[in-house]
Amino acid sequence: MVPQPSLGHRPAQITPRSVPWTCQAPRKRIMRHVSFDLLAPVARTAFLGLDAYLRRETRFRCFETYRDPAAQAVAFAAKTSKAAPFESAHQFGLAADFVVWRNKQWHWPATDDPEWDALRRAAHDFGLINGISWDRPHVEHPSWAGVRKLTRKS
Ligand SMILES: [Zn+2]
Repeated sequence: MVPQPSLGHRPAQITPRSVPWTCQAPRKRIMRHVSFDLLAPVARTAFLGLDAYLRRETRFRCFETYRDPAAQAVAFAAKTSKAAPFESAHQFGLAADFVVWRNKQWHWPATDDPEWDALRRAAHDFGLINGISWDRPHVEHPSWAGVRKLTRKS
C-alpha cells in the first residue's frame, strides 16, 4: 500500500522571523493547511477532482491549500514566495500546491523535471492553471486573474 500524507490541519514547522506582518501574536504557530474545505466554493469542486485524479494516477499529493496572511508573510520574508500577504491566490482560497510524495517524504523535483508535466496536464484537464515556470507545484483557479486586480495597490 502506498503511504499517503494525512489530511487535515497540520502544523508546518515554520519559525516566524523577520516577519514584516504586524500580527498581534508574532510567536503564534504558523499552520500549513491542506483542507479543501478552506478553498473558495467556486474552486473547490475542480480541486477535489484534480486531487482525486492525482492520488489515483500520480505521486502528486496536496501540500497546501489556503494560506493565511501570517504564513504568507513568513514565506515572503523567506523568499519562498514572491507574493506579500493578500497578493497570493492562496489567501483567497483559489490555489493549492501539489508536490511529489515518495517514500513517506515530500520531494520537489527540479523545475525542468518532466514529472511536473503530469501535474500541468491534469490541472488543465480540470479547468485549472499550473503555468508558473519557477513555481511548478502551484495550481490556481482561473477566477484568480480577476480577483488579483482587486488586490493591486492603487
Ligand atoms: Zn501556490
